[in-house]
Amino acid sequence: MRLQFVGCGDALGSGGRSNTCFHVTADHVNFLIDCGASSLPALKRLGIVRDDIDLILITHFHGDHFAGLPFLLLDAQFTRRTRPLVIAGPPGIETRLAQLREALFENSSKTKQRFDLSVIALEPEQKRAFGAIGVTPFPVVHGESGGPFLAYRIETEGRVIAYSADTEWTETLIPLGRDADLLIAEAYYYDKVVKNHLSLKTLEAHLPEIRPKRLLLTHMSDDMLGRLDTLGYTAASDGMIVEL
Ligand SMILES: [Zn+2]
Ligand SMILES: [Zn+2]
Repeated sequence: MRLQFVGCGDALGSGGRSNTCFHVTADHVNFLIDCGASSLPALKRLGIVRDDIDLILITHFHGDHFAGLPFLLLDAQFTRRTRPLVIAGPPGIETRLAQLREALFENSSKTKQRFDLSVIALEPEQKRAFGAIGVTPFPVVHGESGGPFLAYRIETEGRVIAYSADTEWTETLIPLGRDADLLIAEAYYYDKVVKNHLSLKTLEAHLPEIRPKRLLLTHMSDDMLGRLDTLGYTAASDGMIVEL
């Protein structure tokens, strides 16, 4: 199994990094986790074949995780995609996606697609299967409005990938990441504790309970990006490939 960081940046373009988008492939699976605004050019830059992607999991409706979808869908239409595509995310995703598509490309949500597009709402803590991919969403804490916010524990082909999404510390991150082969965790600040986002020192204090087999830090602010050499943890970078 292979996970490539298509983008691991925040909403502010810190470090010139692309918005959040991870590409996972294995023998029988090919999917994206999040699709931030800059994802389509980033996918093209890395030579990733969009037509082979069967599923896109969206953690929340912030533009740096969600706003790439209208571009991706437009590209699929123009490149005559025929393979079905499933987009799954928090409750409300059908309406939010239609609104987003209309805001960016008027009438695009009403255009008849050549391919089958299913948009599926995932309920917190209800495991759902998409072919060989088992997805358990966990509710996380990322603001008063704009939710719901989900983190995902993904089980596929004998591996577990957990992604915290954007969140302040919450106890759900423990079952989310427990013993995972790979935990991808937000580390927005080094030690500054703020609402709605996770800092490395807070995460670090809980790592003995989470016990991930491997940890990669993502969604870092300039504060974190300036300390990459001295962190003692591995941080993601755009284009980085992880073999699992
Ligand atoms: Zn974000
Ligand atoms: Zn966010």
